[in-house]
Amino acid sequence: MKKGKLFIISGPSGAGKGTICERVRIETDSTVSVSVTTRGPRSDEREGEAYYFISNGEFDALIENDGLLEYADVFGNKYGTPKQPVIDALFAGRNMILEIDVQGAMQVKTTFPEGILIFVLPPSLETLRERIVRRGTETAEDVDRRLGEAMREIEYLPEYDYVIVNDDLDAAVAQTRSVMEAEGLRLTPGSAKTFVEKFRKKEIR
Ligand code: 5GP
Repeated sequence: MKKGKLFIISGPSGAGKGTICERVRIETDSTVSVSVTTRGPRSDEREGEAYYFISNGEFDALIENDGLLEYADVFGNKYGTPKQPVIDALFAGRNMILEIDVQGAMQVKTTFPEGILIFVLPPSLETLRERIVRRGTETAEDVDRRLGEAMREIEYLPEYDYVIVNDDLDAAVAQTRSVMEAEGLRLTPGSAKTFVEKFRKKEIR
């Protein structure tokens, strides 16, 4: 059976990657990984939806038991991707999307080089500020910290395979879907060989 592809989506907080991932998940019937984090839930967040909220001790135990595909410290809190659900989805032939920060993405790039890295950019820093402020969940100090962090994250852009500028949400979703579709058609040495063999045996539909 054809294995699923792993898509890693990063970008500054407020660039809109969460919204893009959710739309793409529904429209392409992909799976989005649910991360574990030691940060507390925001008022609109429920356990097991965007995150599993766990203690520092539980997080350390996951690392110790090799339960995380990657993990990082972001804004003073720990975030990580549970490994087993990713393996299960890929082997079941499902595309898996990780919405993670640049540090985590660089770890996945090393341990799983077949992963496809997509960077979501806001149209400008000013738009980014407006979006973070509008979200209303951050204090003024947090907004400045997140903007500083955004500048540092953008430095990693050259490490990525694709860039999506999220000016218009519908366009950004369509572009992300195009990337996924094209990557689904990409030949690898293994898949090319299988195609040739199947073609010879007239098994191609
Ligand atoms: P937030 O607290 O705003 O939900 O997320 C803060 C940052 O942590 C975002 O850049 C988000 O992409 C990143 N993040 C969320 N889950 C993970 C994860 O499992 N691993 C890593 N490395 N970063 C994550």
